[in-house]
Amino acid sequence: MTATVKHVIAGEETTANTTDTQPIVNPATGEEIGTLALGNAETVDTAVKIAVKAQKEWAKVSLAKRTQLMYSMRDLVIKHTDEIAQIISAEHGKTVDDAKGEIARGLETLEFATSITQETRGDFSNNVSTGVDIHTIRQPLGVVAGITPFNFPAMVPFWMHPIAIATGNAFILKPSERDPSASNFFARLYKEAGLPDGVFQVVHGGKETVESLCTHPDVSAVSFVGSTPIAKHVHDLASAHGKRVQALGGANNHAVVMPDANIEFAAAQIASGAFGAAGERCMAVPVAVAVGDSAEPLIAALKTEAEKIKVGIGTDPETGMGPVITADARKRVEDWTTEAEKAGATVVVDGRDFTVEGCENGFWVGPTLLTDVPLDQKAYCDEVFGPMLVVVKVNNFDEALELVNSSEFGNGTAIFTASGHYARRYQEEVQVGMIGINVPIPTPVGYYSFGGWKNSIFGEYHAHGPEAVRFYTRMKAITERWPHQDEAVEASMSFPTH
Ligand code: NAD
Repeated sequence: MTATVKHVIAGEETTANTTDTQPIVNPATGEEIGTLALGNAETVDTAVKIAVKAQKEWAKVSLAKRTQLMYSMRDLVIKHTDEIAQIISAEHGKTVDDAKGEIARGLETLEFATSITQETRGDFSNNVSTGVDIHTIRQPLGVVAGITPFNFPAMVPFWMHPIAIATGNAFILKPSERDPSASNFFARLYKEAGLPDGVFQVVHGGKETVESLCTHPDVSAVSFVGSTPIAKHVHDLASAHGKRVQALGGANNHAVVMPDANIEFAAAQIASGAFGAAGERCMAVPVAVAVGDSAEPLIAALKTEAEKIKVGIGTDPETGMGPVITADARKRVEDWTTEAEKAGATVVVDGRDFTVEGCENGFWVGPTLLTDVPLDQKAYCDEVFGPMLVVVKVNNFDEALELVNSSEFGNGTAIFTASGHYARRYQEEVQVGMIGINVPIPTPVGYYSFGGWKNSIFGEYHAHGPEAVRFYTRMKAITERWPHQDEAVEASMSFPTH
């Protein structure tokens, strides 16, 4: 018997209205380690009704009290980091150290939420016309939902809920089915921090739960992070139902290496971007673009880096890379390698048929390094979301730029160079939302906002930071005057001017 992970509704863990379940599997062992209750339209409706009531009261709570709550939550997350990291590692497969890293990055947005007093300040102009003032206020939207992917079960929900809650909304989280337990842990911590029941709730499930959130009349906004096809679907569905939507999708990030770069440095950084978390990061680096003479030494250095990575269970402190999330994800990496090889690619480091002693039923793929991949191969042009790195050779900077800009995705990119000229041209001309200069995973810190371009995002708002404050609030502009009761009444039928 494994434990059931339940919904968290009105501050209680419950399987109410739920009959369907799904196993939770440890990807390192292939063992079932839990059962997840899968919600439906009724579960969502119950949670939304509770959220509507809770939000009305929560919006009246002072900014000072909301800030204090975020500080308490921060203390609790720090106190329980080790425990949460173990839970994430068991359900996701990433190393415990990497899980701690994502919790730390999640804390950044919680810390940003403690400055909500500054972020929600309005404007005021005195005497815009004689005796007339104008000021603006930002108000919460009401009930907002977050739908999140498996790859960052702590950090990505943290891009959303601290800011949504600090700005006075009630938040319903629909985490990934693959690693749902961290979300329930955070719900317990919010309760302990003093958040009123119903302001943060967790409803588990798949398509039906997601679509119910996207169509429920009392949900005002939906934040989504996941793959591109589902991001587009969620964006279109929720928008058609009148909601504000931010939907962040997939990626295929390129790192350009100029001949003047420090090649050893670039190779180490790119390998960490490509193989860290088994390549399951939306800011992973699955493509290295070798410019001119950089190709030969870069491929040799990447081979060395890939071969020295210790693959194993995430709880082993020696492990550098864990398993991928499912057997299907492993098959995708293996199949795309085989297809590329048949089309003429060179397999420099082969990750197929990989296993880890003692964990033979885990979903293992070794680091995979390919060169000479035809550009119409999935291994190059699609999102592999696994530990595969493809090196593409080009002759010069302009060819590299053209290649990067021809991708359907525009999430992140990097350039490795010693030249300020090319670094500046790259940041000016590349069609990508987040750019690293000698930085392989340019994930902006929590007080900036995160988001890509093109098929990596649907909707206008980026995640976390100042853009999230705008996303989770709407503005009112109030124009006022206070005439004395004895003042002469003068009103013109013409449109008011000053
Ligand atoms: P996914 O799209 O399969 O799932 C994301 C969420 O959508 C989950 O909560 C899932 O339950 C739900 N979902 C899945 N299928 C659905 C359907 N048919 N209808 C409605 N909802 C559905 O993504 P994933 O595999 O969990 O995560 C990996 C993907 O997320 C990658 O593509 C990665 O690039 C992307 N990602 C993007 C960012 C970003 O900031 N752009 C960040 C992290 C992950």
